[in-house]
Amino acid sequence: MDPTIDSKLVSEPVETEKWKKKVQSPSYDLVSYKELPEYMKDNEFILNYYRVNWPLKEALFSIFRWHNETLNVWTHLLGFVLFLGLTVTNLIEVPQVSDLIAFFTRSLPMSGDINVSHHSRDLFVRTMTLVDLKPESDVTSVTRWPFFVFLAGSMFCLLSSSICHLFSCHSQHLSRSLLRLDFTGITTMIIASFFPPIYYAFECDTKWHFIYLGGITVLGLCTIVTLLSPALSTKKFRGFRALLFSSMALFGIIPGIHAVIINWSNPHRDVTLDYELTMAMFYLTGTLFYVSRIPERFKPGWFDLADHNHQIFHVLVVMGALAHYGASLVLMGWRDGHSC
Ligand SMILES: [Zn+2]
Repeated sequence: MDPTIDSKLVSEPVETEKWKKKVQSPSYDLVSYKELPEYMKDNEFILNYYRVNWPLKEALFSIFRWHNETLNVWTHLLGFVLFLGLTVTNLIEVPQVSDLIAFFTRSLPMSGDINVSHHSRDLFVRTMTLVDLKPESDVTSVTRWPFFVFLAGSMFCLLSSSICHLFSCHSQHLSRSLLRLDFTGITTMIIASFFPPIYYAFECDTKWHFIYLGGITVLGLCTIVTLLSPALSTKKFRGFRALLFSSMALFGIIPGIHAVIINWSNPHRDVTLDYELTMAMFYLTGTLFYVSRIPERFKPGWFDLADHNHQIFHVLVVMGALAHYGASLVLMGWRDGHSC
């Protein structure tokens, strides 16, 4: 053994033991706001329970540990599972899917004396029916894809948000990339939310599909490009980000009023509006919590683990999305019986 190292070990036994312990079993303790690197200082009213520079494996398993992001992760992860369940439930009820299953089962030759030409024509008709996305059994059923665009957008937003909250503690580089993913997820969800109401409300005048859905998509892409700038991810721009997302949502007022006017005689008008107003209230209240950092600003340190602004914001986002899901179901159900 090198004598220098040996003498150091003898002269500094306490330090060496400490160092050895650290290497053998690194402990990932939670730290206070004051100990955070600058890039993690986002909310000065949350004083403790931070994870800093944790390896990915420790960050992953911290989903089962208490820290100040635990409920941020779980609120949107459970929201994701809920929307996944809703998507699966709706998928198995979709006429196209049941038709597809029927198409294959009925196409299978059951006996040797099948009339081949009749069978081929039957196959062709069924194929054309599927390509046209109009179920043969129910000609008045409206297409479901705009509804599934909304469900997919919501799931993407909720899942990317959970991932962002779970792994942002790993490094500054990953934190920055995940924040961008989170903002992209929020923007995608806002764009996707426009698809069912605009598609079904303006089904008889499709130029509005291009105008409104094209408009919100362009606005959303501009928002994503703007938010990719690293400076805009900092806490200084919290209000600006909220303003960008809100203005995208407020864009919905124009097609909303237009849709009410042209569908005035729709018997489901009031119930759809109730759902959409409930959604707007949830999103608006959520944004107010996000911007004002209530309640932790009134008692810093009291809401570190539970009930701080971001968790309330997350729950309100899921509730808003559920209200919008209800409105979309009502509109889609009405369109099923009222083709143009
Ligand atoms: Zn979040």
